[in-house]
Amino acid sequence: MPPPAPATATTSDQDATATSDEHRNKRGRTTGTGIAHTTKDKANRKRKEPANRPPPLIGPQSFRYVAPLPRGRNPPEMSLPIQLFDPKDFDGLPTAADQNPHIQKTRRGEKPKIPNLKYVSFTDTEFHAAVIPEFKLYGNIADSQLEVLAKLPTPPLFIVPHGGGFRMLKRAPKQADEILDLICSFRFESHGDGKPDATLLKPIPKNASERKRFGQPWVLILVLGPDEEALRKYLLWQQVFSVHPTLSFSVHESSPGQPWQIMVLTGEDGAVVDSTEAKEAVLAAIKTKLWSSRDYCVFAAALVARNWAGTGNMAKLAKVSTDALDLAVVRAELSGSEKLTPAYLVYAKPITANRGEYQRWVNFFVAPGEYYRGVHQLKVNKAKVECKLCKESAHCAADCPLPATPQWQGPTVEDIYQKSKETDDDDADTSTFVLPSEQAAAIWRNVPRRGEPSRSGAKGYSPTKKGSGGKKKDSRPKRR
Ligand SMILES: [Zn+2]
Repeated sequence: MPPPAPATATTSDQDATATSDEHRNKRGRTTGTGIAHTTKDKANRKRKEPANRPPPLIGPQSFRYVAPLPRGRNPPEMSLPIQLFDPKDFDGLPTAADQNPHIQKTRRGEKPKIPNLKYVSFTDTEFHAAVIPEFKLYGNIADSQLEVLAKLPTPPLFIVPHGGGFRMLKRAPKQADEILDLICSFRFESHGDGKPDATLLKPIPKNASERKRFGQPWVLILVLGPDEEALRKYLLWQQVFSVHPTLSFSVHESSPGQPWQIMVLTGEDGAVVDSTEAKEAVLAAIKTKLWSSRDYCVFAAALVARNWAGTGNMAKLAKVSTDALDLAVVRAELSGSEKLTPAYLVYAKPITANRGEYQRWVNFFVAPGEYYRGVHQLKVNKAKVECKLCKESAHCAADCPLPATPQWQGPTVEDIYQKSKETDDDDADTSTFVLPSEQAAAIWRNVPRRGEPSRSGAKGYSPTKKGSGGKKKDSRPKRR
């Protein structure tokens, strides 16, 4: 006769949450018939049994014939691309080079309606188009804010102030007003005497203690009304608006897709050489590594078949995944400093738009940690290629194509690095940030359209070249 269940074996909340083995083993277990079993063995066995067991085989069973496996027909060992193709063969490669979004210009596609430019002439030209992936635009923005933005009927636009960062957005709140002011000065016929329906939101940081000068989030969020399609098209088409050094920004939309930049390779003096032969040697080294990895080939082949409608065996599909591999010689910033060093920036057409798959794909490239070009070691991602001015990851600020554009009126590289030095080492709580004077902030309103006399009659603001003129300095925020 088993002992009765102990008094502690109740179904109170307290008991239900107690999970220690000791407790469970001591506790009586009650079967469907109300008989309690207390032996340790039984309790253990019970826990190991799967939750949904098949019903017991009782009574007549249907006849099942199990065919023997065919003999002597082992599946052939799948070949790797390295066994079938030559990684040094660059005939017809790279493919898809013209699709690389990082070599494109602004003002692509059909020219939209141009608004009445009421006040100002910004640099009225075509620029290098910065491509910023979604995850970077969203960087360090609170999830709650992103959720609200995702529910908007028209997706918001993202404003990237040139040379900005979260700390600048915090310290120069008027800059946002100025940007919105400029955008609201773009009027179409539909606006009549009214203003465009536009709201500029500050990002709510996920991590508010971000104190780096160029730290994320570095976007402002522009919410346009449902009838502002013309304004939206125009802003995205022009993308870059440079009025003066503190009123200079780019407009981006969040679009799916992943960046083409895969990794940055740097080495000792002489490791990075800008010649076709050297570049092909590096690409061949990367392909050799990937083509020899069964894990990579299985993973990449499936994605090429699915996303690029690729056909053929695994080796061929895996080879195709690297056909768009390319590299550029750029200057990168060594991690933790602003020291420039020559680097290979490796590009490839992403084989997936899914973030998780993309990261896994990139991991295959970066995992070796190093590649060799002949005897020269090239380390993976020991330097960064990231523009602190326009936020693109295809060049550093020192090589940003924007300030090199003729008649550029926005900040120069010297401007933002100088500001960086001025503000990096001080305490955010005790510092003061002096905004541009009213006069300087309003200067763009008096800028004459090119070829027109200034409205105020005074000599208009003239775009200054790099490093020239004290006037420009007055219009930049200064720290004391
Ligand atoms: Zn740039």
